[in-house]
Amino acid sequence: MLKIVKHLCYNIYNMSKQLFKRTKILATIGPAVFTEEKINELIMAGVNGCRLNFSHGDYVERDQQIAWIRKAAENKGRSVAILQDLQGPKIRLGVVKDNRMDVKAGDTLILDYSVQEHDGSNRLPVQYNLAGKVKVGEPLFIFDGKIRTHVTEIENETSIKVEVENDGFIMSRKGLNLPDTDFAGDIITEKDMADIEFGASRDFDYVALSFVQSADDIDKLRQILLSHGSTAQIIAKIETKKAIESDEVMEEIVKATDGIMVARGDMAVEAGAEVVPIVQRKLIALCRKHSKLCIVATQMMGSMVDNPEPSRAEVSDVANAVIQGADAVMLSDETANGKYPLEAVKAMKKTILYTQNHSKISEVTDIAGEYRSYDAIAEAVSNLAEKIEADLIVCQTASGSTAAAIAAQRPNLPIITVTSNSRVAGQLALTYANSAFVRPYTETYGLDLAQDLRANGYLQVPDSQKDLTAVIVSGHKNRVAGTDTIQIVHI
Ligand code: PEP
Repeated sequence: MLKIVKHLCYNIYNMSKQLFKRTKILATIGPAVFTEEKINELIMAGVNGCRLNFSHGDYVERDQQIAWIRKAAENKGRSVAILQDLQGPKIRLGVVKDNRMDVKAGDTLILDYSVQEHDGSNRLPVQYNLAGKVKVGEPLFIFDGKIRTHVTEIENETSIKVEVENDGFIMSRKGLNLPDTDFAGDIITEKDMADIEFGASRDFDYVALSFVQSADDIDKLRQILLSHGSTAQIIAKIETKKAIESDEVMEEIVKATDGIMVARGDMAVEAGAEVVPIVQRKLIALCRKHSKLCIVATQMMGSMVDNPEPSRAEVSDVANAVIQGADAVMLSDETANGKYPLEAVKAMKKTILYTQNHSKISEVTDIAGEYRSYDAIAEAVSNLAEKIEADLIVCQTASGSTAAAIAAQRPNLPIITVTSNSRVAGQLALTYANSAFVRPYTETYGLDLAQDLRANGYLQVPDSQKDLTAVIVSGHKNRVAGTDTIQIVHI
């Protein structure tokens, strides 16, 4: 009979379709959950992936968090993805004297890369040398767009002058947005390079690149990752005006990357909040067309930073992302800095389950798909499983491509994926409806595999049910010929 590898021993899947959460949850790790116990609680409550934001924190802290996440994943018997979010050219002010400076419309500020300390004057330290990048007249927003300015002068090779357009105040380390500035492919900073090297040695599943402007940025990051021996998948954060300037640019980026994040926070500052819902819909559709991962991020349950319950609008926002077919929804400040991180995960999970059980994911009708052979197999598997009301799909996969292609069809049932590659299992943790585990190929496949899973108690059957109906998609025996076999089995 089946010789089970250790990793699998912990995997018990509740095969009630109603309780299997198909849209995944990505939680940002921050000071609010900096203990082993809290990270374990988040993962037990339904978090499928953890985002480490490299705009903050040091490597010692990171190593501690990575160890806690991996331990919690083992406790739960599930792969939990780790996503390294690079800061990119997220330019920040340095420290502002007394952490506050009031400004008025008409004031001039000087943003100077050579200044280390703010003396209370209008010459402020900034973490990036803007002088070589900006042009006179370009807009520059400070503090998440709260202070709007435009460039009036390139003062010298390290400093620029801007004119303030509205009254308000600025604080230390607040971010700048430059929606019209062309970084000309220069978006990976020295800090990012050091962080990539650290990430490669820690084997992260995903690396997210901030402020992507074109597909070339992705190609560049891929070369850098490969040069460090990293096979991490790339998530392009879509948040600049350039990245969303046309459907063609968006599609080029989606094709080049392994996944995208709809980074709604900076996108709203750079391009206007009103563009976000439409761009979100388009990006989800493009990701489904190309079998790429799609994460919807920022302010999903934002009021839960301070309140134990989400607002109606937030519940609706999460539900809409589920109905549109996002692979994953993300929590940012809610879990990183909020008062109610665990409640936010639970509220999100409840919303996902209710929505998936009472709706159908919208069809991708506005954009025609390209057809590859495994897309055809994926479509057939998904249709078949839904038509015969199967309980689950079992998918054997080497690279994860077949599992991702089936997920892109958004079937309304769990996809239990079996792979010999732990890297693939980790990367499928955020993919729609996938729960992957590691198992060598030399063992059983097809019907035998499904029976073994059931016989060994890995598929928990709801009380009211005797049999499970599974649609199994696999390669020929021991996977010598790629994905070529679909079977319906009762187990
Ligand atoms: C965003 O801007 O929505 C986002 C996810 O990026 P960050 O949290 O890094 O600003």
